[in-house]
Amino acid sequence: MPLLVMKFGGTSVADLDRIKNVALKVQREVERGYDVIVIVSAMSGKTNELVGWVEATSPLFDAREYDAVVSSGENITAGLLSLRLQEMGVPARSWQGWQVPINTTAQHSSARFLDIPRTNIDHKFAEGMKVAVVAGFQGVSPEGRITTLGRGGSDTTAVAFAAAFEAERCDIYTDVDGIYTTDPRITSKARKLEKIAFEEMLELASLGAKVLQTRSVELAMRYKVRLRVLSSFEDTDENSGTLVCDEDEIMESKVINGVAYSREEAKITLVTVEDKPGISAAIFAPLADAGVNVDMIVQNISEKNYEDHPGSVTDMTFSCPVNQVARARKAMEEAKAAGHIAYDELIVDSEVAKVSVVGIGMRSHAGVAARMFKALADENINIKVISTSEIKISVLIDRKYMELAVQALHDAFKLEAA
Ligand code: ADP
Ligand code: ASP
Ligand code: MG
Repeated sequence: MPLLVMKFGGTSVADLDRIKNVALKVQREVERGYDVIVIVSAMSGKTNELVGWVEATSPLFDAREYDAVVSSGENITAGLLSLRLQEMGVPARSWQGWQVPINTTAQHSSARFLDIPRTNIDHKFAEGMKVAVVAGFQGVSPEGRITTLGRGGSDTTAVAFAAAFEAERCDIYTDVDGIYTTDPRITSKARKLEKIAFEEMLELASLGAKVLQTRSVELAMRYKVRLRVLSSFEDTDENSGTLVCDEDEIMESKVINGVAYSREEAKITLVTVEDKPGISAAIFAPLADAGVNVDMIVQNISEKNYEDHPGSVTDMTFSCPVNQVARARKAMEEAKAAGHIAYDELIVDSEVAKVSVVGIGMRSHAGVAARMFKALADENINIKVISTSEIKISVLIDRKYMELAVQALHDAFKLEAA
């Protein structure tokens, strides 16, 4: 039997009517002759509620219990969708991660797949099951504890199943009808893409475009999964949505194909750090140990000689998610108290956002940075930090200008026009 993986996100399963709508879509594929593995998210808002309960009970929570709680939202949806399918006469059953089993590392709240043995599910397909409804976002550690894959992780569950079961396609159904040049909620000028290259989608996802979890794109690229994003609220066929595929499957491409943003960023500066070998290691090792995801880093040698600092000094600036500032501060204060680093002041700016432009064409085109900076300057938006890679340029700006910056860049790179 040919096999399809269909994934439905939180808004697509937000209530019983929507679950019914999902069941109809699944039934249609069964009638077309497919065995189907459905990956479901928790009903929308559920995971946030569960996270809130954990944090309210225990601010410095045990990550194993966090996973036990937050993974539960997906179990409900899996059971409800199976029931609905059974009511419609479709042989279906639910699977929690441990029942498959979905084996992951023990990195609680950000676990990674080890393997997904096919035996149990294949056995049930052979017995006549047509649909396996699998709870997304969760797995089981080598110690037998429940794990989760990080927010948005059901996308990754879907791609992993598509790879493990050699599915014909992995269809990610969501609340937009495809992948756009930027988040369609930020500008109505955003244009839906027919296709997007794995590399570009990977970059967009890691820079904040939450339409796909970064890890899911990585896996799809590695295992050559045919990955598609499409709407769960519209009638769709094999040509709907956006296909994520190899670069050489795309005939025409612009220099820049997307604008991404990440709203909840913070900028931290250590003022007057000694400028000597080993100082960066002394700063970033404790941050890593504290689990702070440092993103941009800027070190600028101060040419000025401060009278009260005998050697030369520098300021060190880095960015991290806003909800990790407390952890970062604690790590720096402890490193200072232990005499591993010295600085005069730690300045936090919690009101920043990151905006990025992405395009494979940047590899062979000059002038993208200049065009980007000009577009921001024309809107009077000040750039605080810049970072670049082969196919992207990111800037840190005041959060209040984020939407404006996305719109200005979308216009400047003429992304509206096909
Ligand atoms: P789900 O609950 O189905 O997993 P998500 O909320 O995680 O859905 O992802 C879909 C959302 O991603 C859209 O509603 C949209 O606001 C956002 N998004 C951000 N960037 C893009 C983009 N470039 N194209 C499409 N959607 C995007
Ligand atoms: N329910 C989880 C979350 O909200 C996983 C997912 O929906 O992909 O992050
Ligand atoms: Mg999602």
